[in-house]
Amino acid sequence: MTFDYAPAPESRAVVDIASHYGLFIDGEFVETIDGTTFKTVNPATEEVLSEVTEAGAADVERAVKAARTAYKQTWSKMPGRERAKYLYRIARIIQERSRELAVLETLDNGKPIRESRDVDIPLVAAHFFYHAGWADKIAYAGYGDRAYGVAGQIIPWNFPLLMLAWKIAPALACGNTVVLKPAETTPLTALAFADICRQADLPPGVVNIVTGAGQTGRLLVESPGVDKVAFTGSTEVGRQIQRALAGTRKGLTLELGGKAANIVFDDAPVDEAIEGIVNGIFFNQGHVCCAGSRLLVQESVHDEVLDALKRRLATLRMGDPMDKNTDIGAINSFEQQSRIDDLVRAGEDEGADRWSAPCTIPERGWWFPPTVFTGVTQAHRIAREEIFGPVLSVLTFRTPDEAVEKANNTPFGLSAGVWSEKGSRILWMASRLRAGVVWANTFNRFDPASPFGGYKESGFGREGGRQGLAAYLKQEVV
Ligand code: NAD
Repeated sequence: MTFDYAPAPESRAVVDIASHYGLFIDGEFVETIDGTTFKTVNPATEEVLSEVTEAGAADVERAVKAARTAYKQTWSKMPGRERAKYLYRIARIIQERSRELAVLETLDNGKPIRESRDVDIPLVAAHFFYHAGWADKIAYAGYGDRAYGVAGQIIPWNFPLLMLAWKIAPALACGNTVVLKPAETTPLTALAFADICRQADLPPGVVNIVTGAGQTGRLLVESPGVDKVAFTGSTEVGRQIQRALAGTRKGLTLELGGKAANIVFDDAPVDEAIEGIVNGIFFNQGHVCCAGSRLLVQESVHDEVLDALKRRLATLRMGDPMDKNTDIGAINSFEQQSRIDDLVRAGEDEGADRWSAPCTIPERGWWFPPTVFTGVTQAHRIAREEIFGPVLSVLTFRTPDEAVEKANNTPFGLSAGVWSEKGSRILWMASRLRAGVVWANTFNRFDPASPFGGYKESGFGREGGRQGLAAYLKQEVV
């Protein structure tokens, strides 16, 4: 049975997008010295939302200098309890402006408003609240209390404001100042955050936002005034950054790609597991570093799980991300859609069986229907490479040992999920899975108090929790 819903679009009137944005340096929006401009578009409609500045070398240096001055003159001199007040204030303003931020995120990113409203923005506020609580207790976290100084931070487009919060909140709590570069396809919520910093009366230069693409990111990484680099993005760019920083005294943390296994045993409650599989790979169109993109299902329940999964996927609603009924929004960019197309073609060419949910694809914008590949082997590219889209590769296993072996047979190690009724089996699996996070009978759950990060080619360093503070404190060398 299918239901037809009347559209329930969120109002766009709550956002006020300027036609042009400069860079946020030293507490104000300034025009570029040596940069250019680029356009940011709504991926669901291809409408140009605004013209944004692509920062050049002189702009990046100006931002780094502002951050250095703020570090020396105000932020490092301020006691933790005073820094905490700013973080609390920012958290509260985020809550007050949450509807506006959710709409802006959905317009610029293409993710469903239901997700930006109910997941991204509440987590952003939670991150600032959590780190506000730490700011006057840093010395008790166990990593010393010496901030690095200026942190250069680079983030991707899949959770634009949430990744900003994961970076900026701990950096400021520990006493660093920041120059952050958002991704080129999703700069708008970072620029709205700049306005929130002004509204919170954050001292000028403590947070600086430089927009631009990879070249701007490279300039920030290589700037001599940056003491610590924190990067979230692809493994390929992470490698380049690690090479560029080798031999320097800069601190580095890398949060990179993933290819998580979501492992379903034959005693798992099927209906719950189906919701977990859907959440694992189709949340945020699969643009999730820890997405459960490999489903490992015990052979005896393979057909039952696949039938139920396909029935469920056929009910997902793809379309206008601003509609509150929408489950699957737009792919963030033409480039990302091309990457997904290439890997899906590779899956077909290598002999896996493709099934895609029946969806009406909107005429404009970039879209990909929820897709499942069965008959996948470990050698297939779709089982090895990160697709970063709504595409699930299904493999089978017979024994827990085989499940562990297959789950760990990947260069990545960010996350995993285990579905089973048996607690002892979950603990046995969790101790053997080479993944930074293991979810049991759930998936994609986040809490600022819980550290997140990877093994192997998924990077190093943790974000969130007490452990996340270590990334922003200079460790004593003994
Ligand atoms: P990307 O590596 O292409 O870009 C990420 C950011 O780096 C962007 O801001 C980009 O402009 C910048 N950049 C590009 N080249 C650069 C260079 N040479 N020097 C410095 N900066 C540069 O990644 P993406 O396509 O935007 O994001 C998707 C990737 O991010 C996926 O691989 C995903 O798994 C990963 N990711 C990881 C986590 C995590 O916590 N581990 C979280 C979200 C996303």
